Amino acid sequence: MGERCRLRGCRRVHGDRGGDGSRARAGNQEQETRGGLCVTRDVVVVGGGVAAHRCALELRRLGHDGTVTVISGERHPPYDRTFLSKDMLVEDVDLVPLAPRSEYTDQGIELLLDVTAVALDADARRVQLSDDTARRYDSLVLCVGGRPVLPPALDAPGVAVMREATHLDRLRAILARGGQLVVIGGGFIGGEVASAAVTRGLDVTLVEQAGAPLEAMLGAEVGTRVAALHRERGVKVVTGVGARAVSASQSGYRVDLDDGTTLSADAVVVGVGMAPATDWLTGSGLELDHGIVTDASCRTSVDSVFAAGDCARWWHPAYESLCRVEHWDTAGRHGTAVAKTVLGSAEPFMPLPFVWSDQHGVKLQWAGRAAGWDDVRVEGDDPARFVARYYRSGQLIGVFVSGQPREFAKARKELAASMCPPDQGR
Ligand SMILES: Cc1cc2nc3c(=O)[nH]c(=O)nc-3n(C[C@H](O)[C@H](O)[C@H](O)COP(=O)(O)OP(=O)(O)OC[C@H]3O[C@@H](n4cnc5c(N)ncnc54)[C@H](O)[C@@H]3O)c2cc1C
Repeated sequence: MGERCRLRGCRRVHGDRGGDGSRARAGNQEQETRGGLCVTRDVVVVGGGVAAHRCALELRRLGHDGTVTVISGERHPPYDRTFLSKDMLVEDVDLVPLAPRSEYTDQGIELLLDVTAVALDADARRVQLSDDTARRYDSLVLCVGGRPVLPPALDAPGVAVMREATHLDRLRAILARGGQLVVIGGGFIGGEVASAAVTRGLDVTLVEQAGAPLEAMLGAEVGTRVAALHRERGVKVVTGVGARAVSASQSGYRVDLDDGTTLSADAVVVGVGMAPATDWLTGSGLELDHGIVTDASCRTSVDSVFAAGDCARWWHPAYESLCRVEHWDTAGRHGTAVAKTVLGSAEPFMPLPFVWSDQHGVKLQWAGRAAGWDDVRVEGDDPARFVARYYRSGQLIGVFVSGQPREFAKARKELAASMCPPDQGR
């Protein structure tokens, strides 16, 4: 008989499929029970990022002694993706694994790499894989993250994007060649690539269709300061005009802008956002709406299927709305939280979203909810050193800090205290 799990309040038994098989409703999920105890044996986690990694290890930490299989479309075991657009573009450093390979073996976690889940049969509790095999599950956790958006009009041969290790070689080759680089999209990734490229001596133009980089998320007050930071460090910033088309020829690239002007380049990088990697789940019965929709405890609309990380759009009880966050810290915590739910907890996941970015040697940090603010108050004019506080109806809901990590730590605490209910720090 399986052990009672270590999760406080969880009455779930792992590793024992016996019993009367009766069904108990837990939120929107039906869970198999035996004498009132929930049973799960085979857990399949689809995804190879931080959410999948944390979920698998947390299952073991909590005492799950059934199988844990992690299926990742990438060749590498889970690694720190955040370095890809920072240090790894400037220095010749290796991928940073999230754990030594031996840790998965020691924990009895099976890693299936370079294999993609291509279909879900939720009735049969089976995931079909790209190598023509299938995996049955008792519990399925979807941590599939997202893919970079590359609009067809911008998708000329050789145009680069940045999401995973396979994109790194192309980006590094571009930066090693030098010359003129156009970066389309002034979000965090575009800003980091522009920063790395100018550090490497390239002639960089950053094109942002909003009035300033990061403006769509953080407004003009912060956006103009971030634009100033780029300009001070040598990046040409073109704002208020989108890129309409990219074409390639033997002499390089031509970027057509919405205002009829054109830019010439030796290389083009597109960083205009990501889309949840959920195409293969269409028709599976899962509710999909700009991500995999879940309740506050990571449970999807389908029995025994859970979701976490960048792909999940979950009900955030403190914000009283569905949220999807594309940041490292939240994705990792989400992975830990979903493991608890798989093992029977119904604790809600309500983190204070947090993101950092390194651009031109300056740490940019944001915490809070990047929506719904009606007032922003900024202290400091130096683009490499300022603090912005975001309010809604007089309540602090977000802070953005440039170049002052200590100030950020203080502001983050202030923000956590003003959240209602407070950040659970899960
Ligand atoms: C270049 C870059 C830099 C970043 N820098 C920062 C930063 O500085 N700060 C910050 O807060 N956030 C940063 N982020 C965001 C952060 O990395 C993400 O929020 C985080 O990686 C999300 O983790 P995840 O596990 O949810 O998804 P992902 O990391 O996207 O992992 C998803 C995994 O699932 C796999 N997968 C997808 N579909 C399938 C399938 N059907 N079958 C099998 N496997 C599949 C993918 O191959 C991938 O391995 C950065 C992101 C990128 C791309």
